[in-house]
Amino acid sequence: MASFHSLRIRIIRSGSSGNAIFLEGGGTRLVVDVGLPAEVVARELASLPDATPIDAILLTHEHEDHAKGAGVLSRALGAPVLANEGTLSAAAAILNGAERERFATGVPFRVGELEVEAFPVPHDAVEPVGFAISSGPIRVLIATDLGAADAELTARTRGVDVLILEANYDLRLLSVSPYPWFLKNRILSPTGHLSNDAAARVAVEAASDRLQTVFLVHLSDINNLTPLARDTVQWALQREGLGDVRVEAVRPNGTMPLWSHAAGTATEYVQPTDRRPGV
Ligand SMILES: [Zn+2]
Ligand SMILES: [Zn+2]
Repeated sequence: MASFHSLRIRIIRSGSSGNAIFLEGGGTRLVVDVGLPAEVVARELASLPDATPIDAILLTHEHEDHAKGAGVLSRALGAPVLANEGTLSAAAAILNGAERERFATGVPFRVGELEVEAFPVPHDAVEPVGFAISSGPIRVLIATDLGAADAELTARTRGVDVLILEANYDLRLLSVSPYPWFLKNRILSPTGHLSNDAAARVAVEAASDRLQTVFLVHLSDINNLTPLARDTVQWALQREGLGDVRVEAVRPNGTMPLWSHAAGTATEYVQPTDRRPGV
């Protein structure tokens, strides 16, 4: 049984081919983004202990790798899709027939036992957001698909227990990659994606005696390497004397085991079977 102040997270998939995160706190269950076929997410949820029913599906933005399965999953699970006005209208075709609820960016709202606030991130979508989610005293921040780490993001990372952060590319690998220039420029732009070095700076800013784990997500399979992303962030933390923070990089288009945290206890992985090292 989960204690009241508890958090369970599983990054079901992360990368340019699709993103979905399962998160449970205080008995309330969310899926954040459904950027892969709904049946894949449903199957992954079914493989987790007590992962259903899902109370709501949250969307960060309308890009396919975050939203394409949301309508079908919503109808299959009977869970509403929650998003802001811009994302709901941009994803209207995908969400056709699904129950939808609107939240306002910057205005906190509740889903069951969870307190949620969407905050704006710089990315080339209509109204892209990250999420700050609290389960009692436990706080998690989700920030993927952002071209730059602005002051708002930095301020929001302070005091979080878990940080789920984009580390999309290594600058050197991107510069020699076969990507066409227009795509490289899109990734590099202030509304594109976050580099390993930028993620490391965010992690250092976020580090406090509360921060337990940094999950690095949305890694490029061409312009990044899983150990490189992890080491870049871990070394930056170590240089600042913050080596206790655990850094986990999710393989491009890969998954993570279920992560569990109860207030006042050490975090643990309860389903380590699908954990694979490196690349
Ligand atoms: Zn995007
Ligand atoms: Zn994306």
